[in-house]
Amino acid sequence: MNTNYTNTVVGPVRLSRKQSHYINNLLVREALEIAINDFNVNLADYDSRGRGVVDALSFMYAGRTLYAGDLWPHNSVIRLSDGNIRTHFYTIQSLGRHRIDLSIGTFAHESGHMLCRFSDLYDYGKRDGDFEKSSGLGQYCLMSWGDHLNGGKTPAPICAYLRDLIGWCDQEIILNNHDVYEAEHGDYRTVMRFLTGKYNEYFLVENRHQEGLDKHLPDTGLAVYHCDTRGSNEHQDGTPENHYQCALIQADGHFDLESSQRGGDEGDLYASIHGIALSDVTVPNSNEWDGSDSGLVISGIGPSASKIAFRTGATLEDKIVHKNIVADQLIPDDDEAGIESSITIDPAGSLVNIRVKVQISHTYRGDLNVQLVAPSGKIVTLHSGQGGTLDNLALDLDPQSFSPLNEFKGEAIQGPWLLHVRDLWQYDVGRLDTWSLTIEYE
Ligand SMILES: [Zn+2]
Repeated sequence: MNTNYTNTVVGPVRLSRKQSHYINNLLVREALEIAINDFNVNLADYDSRGRGVVDALSFMYAGRTLYAGDLWPHNSVIRLSDGNIRTHFYTIQSLGRHRIDLSIGTFAHESGHMLCRFSDLYDYGKRDGDFEKSSGLGQYCLMSWGDHLNGGKTPAPICAYLRDLIGWCDQEIILNNHDVYEAEHGDYRTVMRFLTGKYNEYFLVENRHQEGLDKHLPDTGLAVYHCDTRGSNEHQDGTPENHYQCALIQADGHFDLESSQRGGDEGDLYASIHGIALSDVTVPNSNEWDGSDSGLVISGIGPSASKIAFRTGATLEDKIVHKNIVADQLIPDDDEAGIESSITIDPAGSLVNIRVKVQISHTYRGDLNVQLVAPSGKIVTLHSGQGGTLDNLALDLDPQSFSPLNEFKGEAIQGPWLLHVRDLWQYDVGRLDTWSLTIEYE
């Protein structure tokens, strides 16, 4: 769904009194009268639904933003009539002191209130029975403090939580199935949701790579929001009773948004990781507000980019097994059979990731051929004569650095893994010193 919002600009107009007068006397009535009388504005032109009510009105005053009285940027309601048409919603905000000051951030924020009835996602410090100020959603949403990014010239987008609430997202991806997903930056029509058993509580995942409207965010990567439509961003406590309605789960576990007023910093978003990033036992965790395990596990996050891949699942429990062996086996010279060394993996499961290290002392690396054989008999050649005349061979390989290892993904890991080492040329000789396997499985 798209919202197209077009404004007609009228003015400038000079009001009858000095600016300070309008701190306690809302300027809307006087400014609107001038617009109607001197600029021939016909309010009926701005009644898209034909209900005798003006859709939206915004007033911008010259000078710096004054955080005082009626000049404090705000959205509210005023009923003024002109014939048989009346006003309703309006916003007010500043233009700045000079052309260079003009920015869209606050205008966009107040328009968010006016057009979509978005609530604020920052923490006022004195609402909903809470008197402590925190950062709420900080700079991560237009409706929090994100309207001020880049001096208000590149305000943050509206976060997934609010976009979803008002029905902007006509595509929903449910993350409860154990699978690999891809979050696309700027795909504002899609919401990625992990459901809990409670209708009001859920988790949302969004790509907040530093580009486009996110260019000036304090961090880059994957955002995970813990949402409760019955919560309030006044409540930074994180308790079953008092918690945010939309909390950014800050990857660094520092809870800075809850405890400070910095608005965000590096480490808030999830960066690339092979293993588990978020689960019921990580810090921070993915538990529901009442402390129960939501089942949300996020792992295997790709690097921050326009598309970020990640894994999730209701029951996914990544496990890691590591075995190191001191083989200390001489490698027979010029011998097709070679030697075998085995590492037996005890637990059962299917392979998610593998890292293999091999240390061989040898006087001529080019003689060597090294293969890893899975319990199923599947073979991946790790080394085949590369390096020629160099001494010794030290391998440290994983599927990211050495793509043939992708062959092992999904393999049943239980049983003996064989390292097959052969010296295929005469004269130079060597020894298999050590080798190790680190296997992530599920
Ligand atoms: Zn606001």
